[in-house]
Amino acid sequence: MAGPYVLVVEDDEVIGTELGEALAAQGYEPAWAATGKDALERVSARAPDLILLDLGLPDMEGVTLCRRLRSVLTDTVIVVLTARTQEFEVVVALDAGADDYLTKPFRLTELMARLRAHLRRSSASKADERFVGSGSLNLDLAARRATFDGAEIALRPKEFDLLACLVSRAGEVVTREELIDQVWDVNWFGPTKTLDVHISALRRKLAQHGADPRAITTLRGRGYRYEPA
Ligand code: CA
Repeated sequence: MAGPYVLVVEDDEVIGTELGEALAAQGYEPAWAATGKDALERVSARAPDLILLDLGLPDMEGVTLCRRLRSVLTDTVIVVLTARTQEFEVVVALDAGADDYLTKPFRLTELMARLRAHLRRSSASKADERFVGSGSLNLDLAARRATFDGAEIALRPKEFDLLACLVSRAGEVVTREELIDQVWDVNWFGPTKTLDVHISALRRKLAQHGADPRAITTLRGRGYRYEPA
């Protein structure tokens, strides 16, 4: 079975060829596009699992191309490759729908590690939403395991449920009522202070594992919000 389909968009033939060979050696199915126009034609024929996108292309602004690719590809991971002199463009590219970036020159081993991590995450989320998380914090909802940088965080059942609620809605305010309904019971009439006590325990455990405890923000009187780093 062919591995994930990776499209390399790079005008430099040497880099394009080298990346293609390195990807093929790792079991990926690589393709190479030398221009933005070529890239758009290729993705309309077949959606890649991942795109390595050089921001410095001859025929099109890299960020413009990134936005156009994202507008037609919802599930494809886009990793932009940027020269040190274009670093300011990275922020714009991330806003334009890129998932990650690497600054040239980069090590092939680092590139491959990032690709594996992205593809693992995207296939997991396509599979059944069994895994939620971002960056170093990951939750396996089926196994009820939470890990930070690969190390398991020992959580009590309610703590796990709370973290799962917050992380699966990362960036959004989850109200106190919603958390109590989902984690305890819609008919919970106990002290709502219980919620705060559990949140404190969760922050402490995250901090013990090197995660930023401030990732869980308190919105006084309203609820909590998980902000991935
Ligand atoms: Ca280039």
